[in-house]
Amino acid sequence: MTDDSRQHLREVKELDELLQKLFPISRSLSGLGNRETFRILKELIPLELTEYPSGTQVYDWTIPEEWRIRDAWIKSPDGERLVDYQECNLHVVGYSSPVRQRMQFADLAPHLHCLESSPEAIPYRTSYYQHNWGFCVTAAQYKRLEDAQGPFEVCIDSELKPDGAMTVGELRISGESQAEYLVSTYCCHPAMANDNLSGLLTATFLARDLLKKGKPQFSWRFVFVPETIGAIAYLQHNEATMKKLLGGLVITTCGGPGPLGYKETFLGDHLVDRAIRLAFRDRKVEPIRYSFVPDGSDERQYSSPGFRIPVASVTKDKYYEYSQYHTSLDNLDFVNGSQIAQSLAIYRDVIRVLDCNARYCSTAPWGEPQLSQRDLYPATGGGINQPSATGPDVVTTDIDAIMWVLFLSDSEYDLVTIAERADLEFARVVGAVDRLIDVGLLEKVSN
Ligand code: ZN
Repeated sequence: MTDDSRQHLREVKELDELLQKLFPISRSLSGLGNRETFRILKELIPLELTEYPSGTQVYDWTIPEEWRIRDAWIKSPDGERLVDYQECNLHVVGYSSPVRQRMQFADLAPHLHCLESSPEAIPYRTSYYQHNWGFCVTAAQYKRLEDAQGPFEVCIDSELKPDGAMTVGELRISGESQAEYLVSTYCCHPAMANDNLSGLLTATFLARDLLKKGKPQFSWRFVFVPETIGAIAYLQHNEATMKKLLGGLVITTCGGPGPLGYKETFLGDHLVDRAIRLAFRDRKVEPIRYSFVPDGSDERQYSSPGFRIPVASVTKDKYYEYSQYHTSLDNLDFVNGSQIAQSLAIYRDVIRVLDCNARYCSTAPWGEPQLSQRDLYPATGGGINQPSATGPDVVTTDIDAIMWVLFLSDSEYDLVTIAERADLEFARVVGAVDRLIDVGLLEKVSN
């Protein structure tokens, strides 16, 4: 077994363990489950946490009261828990107001949600901005309640704290340049694995990679927020900085068993799009392409007219596209570490492309420089495109990549353009650049 495959197995195991640990935690827009989730992620990366107070106005929105939930159930007349929050936190509509009441089925029914299309599933429902309460149940549970008729003991032991707060996590990795990219994901979904433990873990692992590698060329801002309200609040609190961001990634639903996908930025051909296409091309993977539409995740906020940050997503079973979406079937049978690792590999490549991208200029642009003098070209002519396995003239350098990089390096073309134009793997372009810098034939053009 190679070092790489050992490393891969270790990573898959770590992802699987983290999935197990994070899955049962009750997350929402706010509350103790979110803080517990951050506590676990902080064991991996030094996230900085900020609490935005409930009631604060953020642009057109208001930070909601903090929701805390301890327990919830529907009990039969003889005390049996017919629906039990302790079994699955999706049973309670997110942000449910507290309830403790005896009621008949007829009064309970308007507060019950189930899915005819997927009778085994408990649906995921929320009522963030309208005080309400409810239970989400399987079709079988619904039928049992209907048959029993009641009276039931109904309890939601929750609290909506007007003096609470909404927690967001961030990590800024400072690069050689202050020009910044964004990586954002959301932490507000309870027990569902693809949406969005896959995103939380992928973002965390990407941040950890960047921290390990030493100073990146660009600065990278990792943001972990509740979807929509969290992104809006974060934008409002960091307005000037966010307006200047170069581009970014919104990481969501990237751990399913289905094919990889890619949702474009609102521009469609931004450097972020091109980096993603290169990453897929170089791995010879054809993703499902999703054109930009103003729905989905937090690209709606980051790319809104006030900010216009071009952000894209790499997905694996994208939200809306899989039948388990927003139900209890989006669980750890559906998602695993090895599937997340596939998206992670693409995202790693995307970040590498964006972070390595730069423009260079040749220091000997008048005709071709003499490469054989610098051991970059075979001294014996005539053998081009005829690789030989032995002899002193074996070409150990990637001559194609060297020729392209030298030819295009007039300080206008960046490495992404060279990789596209020459149809060369990005890693080969970078390898050629390193080699040419070593022999003094290339200089970086400052950003
Ligand atoms: Zn969702």
